[in-house]
Amino acid sequence: MNVNTAEKITQQLLHAGHTLAESDDETDVIIFNTCCVRNTAEQKILSHIALAKQLKQRRPHLKIAVIGCLSAKRKINGVDILLGTQDAMQVVEKLGTPLQKLPPVPADTAYIDITYGCENFCSYCIVPFVRGRLRIRPLEEIRQEFNQVKDTAKDIYLLGQNVNAYPDFPKLLAELAQQTGDFTLHFLSPHPKDFDIETIKVMATYPKIAHDIHLPMQSGCDKILKLMNRKYTVADYLKIVKDLRTYIPDIHITTDIICGFPGETEDDFATTVKVVEEIKFSAAYIFPYSNRSGTVADKMENQVPFRTRKARATKLVEIMRKMS
Ligand code: SF4
Repeated sequence: MNVNTAEKITQQLLHAGHTLAESDDETDVIIFNTCCVRNTAEQKILSHIALAKQLKQRRPHLKIAVIGCLSAKRKINGVDILLGTQDAMQVVEKLGTPLQKLPPVPADTAYIDITYGCENFCSYCIVPFVRGRLRIRPLEEIRQEFNQVKDTAKDIYLLGQNVNAYPDFPKLLAELAQQTGDFTLHFLSPHPKDFDIETIKVMATYPKIAHDIHLPMQSGCDKILKLMNRKYTVADYLKIVKDLRTYIPDIHITTDIICGFPGETEDDFATTVKVVEEIKFSAAYIFPYSNRSGTVADKMENQVPFRTRKARATKLVEIMRKMS
């Protein structure tokens, strides 16, 4: 989603005559499009902002803009423009450039938001607090943006923090997959609790829909899934995988896994490893659990020591690497 926002802002600014700076000494504007979903991302961006402030001492006219999650979460001093995710596009106007409703999008890959925000409140996740509650994009806007890219883009991604929270998602998917154009249609990221057999049938029916899916599992242990407030069980997840492979035998399934969530014992982790081995994902994004203040999980007892979280993540990465 951040890549999408960054690309749209870049297109707007290039269209208005800005150019990309090749070095610090040519830079008049720096825009940080931030993510604070994990603590390491937050720390990294803060150190980049500190460097930009040093540059501003040498180039006083330099404008620093910080947009995205981090701006919604905390106050950042010494920058010129601060905008949360919902207002991120306003950065274009704040830089003195009128916002075009439909700027040209020549890229091979196009991203189209269909939902914004999320209200699932998974217990570890900061997204509902920084990106706001679920909002559904009007269908006409989606169609308009789709028509604008379908003849030029090779890959089109429908995006949503919880993409299949879109009302009657299979219907939308089927409609777009029948449009003319030489594109492959993807969607990111679906939530297992909202994933239904209709979506799988649509995926199997229309050749323009990619045979790959990113389906975040997060844990392979029911106790931990419950603590995470994910609202599905391992059996539910396995059923989706089975249906996907039945209807679409060449499907590539990728996932996200959090290691060392509060309360995760060695046995719970071993259960997750077993499920990962059973499913044989094509790839997995594996991370040690990251505390985010304000979330339920951050206040849970039985926090797993950081080195254990890391050790489990490293072990699972190694297992995945061998399987891949
Ligand atoms: S569904 Fe995704 S974005 Fe929403 S709260 Fe859960 S992890 Fe966060």
